[in-house]
Amino acid sequence: MSTDRVVILGGGPGGYEAALVAAQLGADVTVVDSDGIGGSAVLTDCVPSKTLIATAEVMTQVAAAAELGIDFHDSEGDAATTIRVDLARVNARVKQLATDQSEDIARRLDKEGVTVVRGRGRLDGPGRVVVGDTTYDADAILVATGAAPRTLPSAQPDGERILTWEQVYDLTEVPTELVVVGSGVTGAEFASAYLALGIPVTLVSSRDRVLPGEDADASLVLEEVSTRRGMTVLSKSRMESVTRDGDVVTVRLTDGREVRASHCILALGSVPNTRDLGLEEAGVVLDDAGFVKVDRVSRTAARGVYAAGDCTGVLMLASVAAMQGRIAMWHLLGDTVHPLDLKKVSSNVFTAPEIATVGWSQQAVDAGEIQAESVMLPLAGNPRAKMQGVRDGFVKLFCRPGTGIVVGGVVVGPRASELIHAVAVAVGESLTADQLAQVFTVYPSNSGSIAEAARRLHHV
Ligand SMILES: Cc1cc2nc3c(=O)[nH]c(=O)nc-3n(C[C@H](O)[C@H](O)[C@H](O)COP(=O)(O)OP(=O)(O)OC[C@H]3O[C@@H](n4cnc5c(N)ncnc54)[C@H](O)[C@@H]3O)c2cc1C
Repeated sequence: MSTDRVVILGGGPGGYEAALVAAQLGADVTVVDSDGIGGSAVLTDCVPSKTLIATAEVMTQVAAAAELGIDFHDSEGDAATTIRVDLARVNARVKQLATDQSEDIARRLDKEGVTVVRGRGRLDGPGRVVVGDTTYDADAILVATGAAPRTLPSAQPDGERILTWEQVYDLTEVPTELVVVGSGVTGAEFASAYLALGIPVTLVSSRDRVLPGEDADASLVLEEVSTRRGMTVLSKSRMESVTRDGDVVTVRLTDGREVRASHCILALGSVPNTRDLGLEEAGVVLDDAGFVKVDRVSRTAARGVYAAGDCTGVLMLASVAAMQGRIAMWHLLGDTVHPLDLKKVSSNVFTAPEIATVGWSQQAVDAGEIQAESVMLPLAGNPRAKMQGVRDGFVKLFCRPGTGIVVGGVVVGPRASELIHAVAVAVGESLTADQLAQVFTVYPSNSGSIAEAARRLHHV
């Protein structure tokens, strides 16, 4: 047990998960947070967007219900022609759930003896944090201040019709048409969700395909499904400006084309919250984009200063932020620690269908970074998928040619975020495709396709 004084800047997953570990190991822990415990992850980004998407998922199922023999009728027995989402109620639920989650975490921190200070903190050298008029001495500091939506001078959000992803839950009226600028994970998720909620969506993508960072076969499926459901995808289309005139928002593209809609969501990436924190004065090194440079146990260049989460720019995911924070505390307080291994991170794009990945990617295999054999099985052949009317999606596995060890995988389909876990266990524990294939799966189940893909990687 230690009596180290640990001060954590930022109460998101990077900060609060670290606080819980440090408290468990006996440290005297203070978390300083400016916007609410849970951070952007809980209050504006991850939790709200996935709550909105939970409603979108139901709408996607409802849209496919007729094939499964379900018709909707009004009280007179006439066929219902529209199913409407009450966006105001959805947004109220989203915000309530986020607030409740934040309060849950704050209570847990309190129970574990962590002191929470509301305010904006900054470093005063490597061993001191200042919040307003109060100074906190620290044996170690963890910087976990997160990131904020990137905006451009030519595309300024107004909070009413030109929106960042943090502002969409304040919408009081339903957009009649929505344009989403940016086809990375955030842009793709919002475009997919609002389309399912019944709003016409145009997705502006500067690249030749949506989700340029993901598996190309997966992006292809998503683009095909989205356009089939009515989304307009403008690829190789770079936004120049977004302006508003009354009720109309105009997105001008660099080639002169214009897209008009009632609302626009900007999903242009994130900038780290690392300015004016006294970081460089304390000896912390930032990269050119302002992200804190860290090693695999979350150490910065300054002795006694660690950093975790989005402010480091290392795979900007809540799960990674949390692990970086925990690793920092295990390292600081002398517990068993394994350096961060990004090849074991499973992640998911919550579109319809979902896209989940873990380990080495097709891009890496194609680029010769790793030698791997692969197999790709369409979900359409899976009996459970047939019963559920699911035709889009696939399971892809990569294994090493000699040993058969599973090194990566992709799942595209409903609940891919849950299905990927089996592949993540195989990758994390260096199981062979044969070992994965020998595990019983439920019949019928979509996970049966993972075992089947593994069987097809068997060598005689
Ligand atoms: C729309 C969207 C959806 C996402 N969905 C997912 C998902 O489904 N799954 C997933 O794993 N990841 C998701 N992410 C990513 C995830 O939200 C981030 O990776 C995560 O929030 C990072 O956690 P963090 O602790 O680094 O920072 P944050 O969650 O941003 O928390 C940082 C906290 O520090 C506070 N702070 C900043 N400066 C100071 C200061 N000087 N003093 C005190 N406090 C300060 C901030 O106000 C904030 O409360 C999503 C991101 C977006 C944008």
